[in-house]
Formats: sequence, structure tokens, C-alpha cells
Amino acid sequence: MKRLHLFAILGALSAALASPAFAQNQKQSQNVKVTPLGGIDGEFCPQDRAMVFEDPNGTRILYDPGRTVAGADDPRLGKIDIILVSHMHGDHLGNAHNKAPNSGSCDKPDVSVSAVPNSSAVEIALAKKSKIVTGSEMPPFFAAKLKANGGDPANSILARFGGSVTIDGIKIATVTALHSNGLDPAYIGGELGKAMTEAGIAGDVGLATGYVLRFSNGLVAYLSGDTGIVADQERTVRDYYHAKLAVMNMGDGFSTGPAEAAYVINQLVKPASVIPSHSNEVSTVGGKVRPGSKAEAFIKAVKVPSYLPLSGRTMEFNAAGKCMAGC
Ligand SMILES: [Zn+2]
Repeated sequence: MKRLHLFAILGALSAALASPAFAQNQKQSQNVKVTPLGGIDGEFCPQDRAMVFEDPNGTRILYDPGRTVAGADDPRLGKIDIILVSHMHGDHLGNAHNKAPNSGSCDKPDVSVSAVPNSSAVEIALAKKSKIVTGSEMPPFFAAKLKANGGDPANSILARFGGSVTIDGIKIATVTALHSNGLDPAYIGGELGKAMTEAGIAGDVGLATGYVLRFSNGLVAYLSGDTGIVADQERTVRDYYHAKLAVMNMGDGFSTGPAEAAYVINQLVKPASVIPSHSNEVSTVGGKVRPGSKAEAFIKAVKVPSYLPLSGRTMEFNAAGKCMAGC
């Protein structure tokens, strides 16, 4: 009798453990950590683009290293498994970067270290043995740069529009970004690069992109890249992928400004939370939003909670896109 009773308890317990409800709770207790790697600790500065996303399974993704990651030696990087580059412009790929974190000031960023012809993204990938996942026609460029520097060209991986790749439990897709994507001839070099510079033309590596990431806890994040307003933000990012967290570029001039970016968030993507990015101006003073800034206009205009990308501050988001810590 006792034995039977024990089996009954074990049976009930294993059924509970295997149930979808339990699995869901387990997953939701695990958050995705987002840490901006900007120019100055605790602030949101003009050149800030880079963010590290850490999956609950420990996988670390660096998005658009740009100019505020102090190259491969930046101690804030730690392990980097995957690098994402939305497009080839120098402020995203990293044509130059700071000497060290916090060098320079928020209004006068230090971009004194040149990273051409390789780019900061490639130098970090070589040092960390990271995979570079890009869409469009960008992967052959990265494969060639990796190969030319003794790296493994197979670490440059394609995720073109409509498809996805899953790496270390994270599903990565690229989505439309209405922008340009010329490759600066400085990355090409030689006679060809010189002739292109003289002619004032850039290399063709296909379209610019944004990203949609699905983390192992179920959180879906939209990283806009530089983009205008596109219908895909509704039809694809919201209706198909159901993004719950958005990182929205809102600097104006080069991409959507605060009003357009707020429209994208309020009317098209409708996430649970948004992190503004790419402001191209001093957005905070002492960690507080600067009155009259584009960041302030954006935050006032969006209807969902908006969290400033303060450099070095780690924010945690659950599967529903709700900030659970650090915001
Ligand atoms: Zn940009």
C-alpha cells in the first residue's frame, strides 16, 4: 500500500513538472538582460548604439558595436557569442572607436582609434571568435574580412529577409529597414577603393536591415536599425513576430525622428516596452533625460513604458517584454 502511495505521488509530481503551465512558469522566471555599452557610464550620449543582450541560457549578443565599444579589449564586452550589424555605416559597423570606456565626454565623444579597413565589429569577432549574423548581401563582406585576418569565414552567417537562423537557442531574423547601406571604400582599399573614393561612390552590399530576436525565454525583441516608417513594422514585426520589446532609433535626419519613431511604436509595433536609441545628441545629464531633447519628446509621445539606454545599466525583461529589474 505504502509503495503504491509513493508511486502515485511521484506520478503526480512528474505530470506536474511535464505540464506546459510549469514549463511556462520556469521560462518566465528567466529574464533577458540588456546592457547598453555607450560612451559614458550612466548616460545616453550622441554616438551610443551598442547593446549587449544576454539570453537566460548565457548566450551574449552584441548589437551594432559602433564607436562606443573600445574595440575588442573593452572589458565590458566579456564573452560575445554573436555580433549583429544592422548596416554598414561607420556609426554601426564601427569605423573608429574610443580609446577606453568613458574616454572623451558625452558631448564630445572620443572616436580617436581608427578601425578601418577591418571595422570594430570584425576586430571584436576575431578576438572573441564570435559569429556575425547579418542579412541582405552583407555576409560575404564579413566572411572575406574574417578570412583575410586568419579567422573562420564560416563564422559569418546569413539571415536574409523572411527566413531565420537559430544559434545557441536564439532565433535571429532580419526585417526591413528603409535606409541606405553603402560600404565606405575605406574598407575596400587598394586601387579600387581609391577610385571609388575619387568618384564619390560606395560599395554595394545590399539593403540595410533591422532584426527580430526570439530569446529562449520566449521574449521577442525588435531592433529597428536605422529606418523610416515602414508597413512591415506592423505586418511583420507586430502581426507575425509579436515583438514585445523594441529598440527604436529616433535621432531624426538619418532615421525616424522622435515623432515618427513614436508613431511606429504606438501604431505599428505596439510592444510592451521600448528603449530609444541613436539620438545623435546629448540625451541625459546625470542619468536624467535632458529637457528639450529628442529623447524627451519621444518618451512623452510613446504610450508604453520607455527606458533610457543608460550606458552600463543592465535592464531585465521577461517574456512579455515587461521590465523586471534595472529600469
Ligand atoms: Zn546610424
